[in-house]
Amino acid sequence: MQIAIVGAGIVGAATAYELAADGHQVTLFEQRAAAAEEASFGSAGLLAPALLLPWAVPGVGAGRLWRDPSSPRLARGAASAGLAWRWRWSKAGRSPGMPALLSALDGLGRYSLARTRALAQRFDMDMEASRGTLVLLRRPEDMEPLQPLLQRLREAGEVLQEVDADTARLIEPGLCTDAPLAGALHAPDGQAGNCRLFAQILRHAAQAQGAQFVFGARVQALGRGHAGVQIAGEAAPRRFDAVVLCAGLASAALLRPLGLHLPMAAVNGYSISAPLREDSHAPQGSVIDPLHRITITRQGQRVRVSGGAELGHGGGTPHAPTLQTLYLALSGWFPGGALTSSPQVQVWRGARPTLPDGAPVIGASGHTGLWLNTGHGACGWAQACGSARALADLIADRAPAKDLQPFGMGRF
Ligand SMILES: Cc1cc2nc3c(=O)[nH]c(=O)nc-3n(C[C@H](O)[C@H](O)[C@H](O)COP(=O)(O)OP(=O)(O)OC[C@H]3O[C@@H](n4cnc5c(N)ncnc54)[C@H](O)[C@@H]3O)c2cc1C
Repeated sequence: MQIAIVGAGIVGAATAYELAADGHQVTLFEQRAAAAEEASFGSAGLLAPALLLPWAVPGVGAGRLWRDPSSPRLARGAASAGLAWRWRWSKAGRSPGMPALLSALDGLGRYSLARTRALAQRFDMDMEASRGTLVLLRRPEDMEPLQPLLQRLREAGEVLQEVDADTARLIEPGLCTDAPLAGALHAPDGQAGNCRLFAQILRHAAQAQGAQFVFGARVQALGRGHAGVQIAGEAAPRRFDAVVLCAGLASAALLRPLGLHLPMAAVNGYSISAPLREDSHAPQGSVIDPLHRITITRQGQRVRVSGGAELGHGGGTPHAPTLQTLYLALSGWFPGGALTSSPQVQVWRGARPTLPDGAPVIGASGHTGLWLNTGHGACGWAQACGSARALADLIADRAPAKDLQPFGMGRF
């Protein structure tokens, strides 16, 4: 089939690779000059699907400790639409269907992690991967509120070990000896990696399979009644056998003229990437500080600290208290691990394309030849390769390894 893809973020790049590998003639249209310039640019890099869920899904917080970490702050510009969306988010967290959706998300995440690893091995490329994730607990009583979540994840087959402070420091020797640490939750299978770099690797791998990437091409409209795209500045629409929409945040606006309403919001967050200062003082894998809702990951010769969740443009300026929390957490947990005053420090604000139940939309749109793979929220990197493989199977009329029914458009 001749298939068009809209968007070259991590989801679009993975989709292009899988469809090209299946033998389709793929053309990807991307408005920017390169792949992964928007949400996939500076993600925290966590590929630990189970441990991302408290960020990604409403109502999965664990009491006072991990108090609904995903519930976004209302920043300037959020207006009443932001308030209404946040209400929908809280409501989804209390929905009776949430446990089933959670287990579907956990399954998709694990499938995706296996697929990401298989591809990384196949490409034999360095994606700045690091193994193992620790959830840091300051007080002994912090373990207790996590128990319901832990039980659910273990029942789903996740390997999560409770370790004491000494063991946590053996796993991450750079952890500050003065920082309050009562113990940790260890996910040995957790992983981090550079999302942007992997999107570029996928792009090259897709091109090697014959896919074409057209940069600087903004899709203005999707075909009505036929599969096609109208590129800005072109006289006529281009027709294809199928179109896959992977446009992240822009997906909702592209679908609206077709009468499809995706209640997508931009949940903004931040990452700060600093050059490594001293390897033994830096994280070897990734850590999560649930109290401050932040992650610290090792990405090759850099350390990345990430956090924050806000609705609204915030006046176009970064939220200073959030950035301060990120700097303090990095220097508090790993003093001397990163050069935070280096001119090479990169501060990034990105928007997670998020639907009110925290899950993506993957599958048919209901319009001829138009498929959706979008709205991955806080887990786009962790879910991209699995979502892409499963959607490619669906398009080929094969049963995907993961049931995509929970991720259908029909739920909105
Ligand atoms: C601070 C932060 C930390 C995060 N940490 C993690 C993490 O640890 N783990 C994890 O799994 N996820 C994480 N995420 C989420 C993850 O980054 C996103 O879910 C993911 O990048 C979304 O990928 P995407 O391809 O759907 O969207 P994008 O990367 O935004 O790609 C969409 C692409 O479509 C293009 N496009 C849009 N409209 C058009 C158009 N009309 N025509 C042509 N092209 C168009 C855009 O230019 C863009 O390149 C984080 C996000 C943030 C903000």
